[in-house]
Amino acid sequence: MNIHEYQAKQLFLNYGIPIPDGKLAVNAENVTHIAQALGGDSWVVKAQIHAGGRGKAGGVKLAKTLAEVVSVTNDMLGITLATHQTDAAGLPVNSVLIEQTYPIERELYLSLLIDRSTQRMSFIASATGGMDIEAVAEHSPEKIISVSLHPAAGLQDYQCRKLAYALALSGGQIKTLANIMRGMVRLFLDKDASQIEINPLIVTGSGELLALDAKINFDDNALSAHPDIAALKDPTQEDDRENQAQQFGSVYITLEGNIGCMVNGAGLAMATMDIIKLKGGQPANFLDVGGGTDPEKVAKAFKLILSDSHVKAILINIFGGIVKCDTIAEGILAAVKETAINLPIVVRLEGTNAQLGRDLLNNSGLNLTAANDLDHAAEQIVMLAGAQ
Ligand code: GDP
Ligand code: MN
Repeated sequence: MNIHEYQAKQLFLNYGIPIPDGKLAVNAENVTHIAQALGGDSWVVKAQIHAGGRGKAGGVKLAKTLAEVVSVTNDMLGITLATHQTDAAGLPVNSVLIEQTYPIERELYLSLLIDRSTQRMSFIASATGGMDIEAVAEHSPEKIISVSLHPAAGLQDYQCRKLAYALALSGGQIKTLANIMRGMVRLFLDKDASQIEINPLIVTGSGELLALDAKINFDDNALSAHPDIAALKDPTQEDDRENQAQQFGSVYITLEGNIGCMVNGAGLAMATMDIIKLKGGQPANFLDVGGGTDPEKVAKAFKLILSDSHVKAILINIFGGIVKCDTIAEGILAAVKETAINLPIVVRLEGTNAQLGRDLLNNSGLNLTAANDLDHAAEQIVMLAGAQ
């Protein structure tokens, strides 16, 4: 799960990571007072969306007068902001963070994540902050430094110093960086984060370190243990279909193709998408309807898939283990009738009572084909989607 920058900064504050003074605004009414209370003679107004790349997309703007704070806030609130990290539609801006500005001497990059290759928590740092770390990694990988934490020993002082020297910090900044790194590790472990990113971590004109931006991702599977974090969820920043699927115990992820997929089991869903691609097609979604696939769930999943206008054909790939294939077939038939689908559907049923299920589908008189194996099912669906 992602959270907003202002929420991440609040967590930073609790863990001793220095942040700029700032305040959230959901309308322009009080922003003059907010800016006055913050002090200084210029402010930065930052669109709160669950994506980076806001700077280049006009979601981070400098205001040099109180009147500008108001006009910039008015311009940002209510728009949908598209950045290179969002899809073309963008995300709604329902709030802005107003902060004091600081003279920026240098912009650094610092993040903490789990490095899958070493299976350890690792810090990634670079003196070239403020830009896409992916681009730095691609074009000048020598500018990226990392240290990985031993699971028993944890973060060591020499590792903090190593990063501090690599970032050309000196004097009191070295200790501050160590404190920031320790705070990040505690936050990461306490709240089951999967990534904490500060880009940029700035060195101000007077030599102080400040987290100018803050991004935290949390492990969804640990959210039930952290109600305080789960409460930070903002559904307006998430795909509506993904939210709906969650409500009936399924996992849906929007993709860019035109073949709707309904599958039970994440592994089977991945394999289904692979084979669709292998046959030259493009899946419109990943959908794991989950175990205990009952007719009601099938109907809900159908409606979800159909709400995507890109879908030209639907492939159902279900393994009947706990629920028998004939029961699933009945569910599919009921759902097809209920939703009045007129798109071609190919169904691959395997497992208990598979033949019974296939017979039910084939004799239904509806626009749907029961395939005997996945290979043929994928070939057929790609052909049917292409013909639409
Ligand atoms: P992102 O583009 O979504 O990652 O948003 P950031 O919060 O990282 O802001 C983008 C850029 O805006 C930063 O790299 C800074 O260069 C600039 N910026 C953000 N806040 C301030 C500020 O308070 N003062 C100044 N001068 N620049 C800022
Ligand atoms: Mn940033």
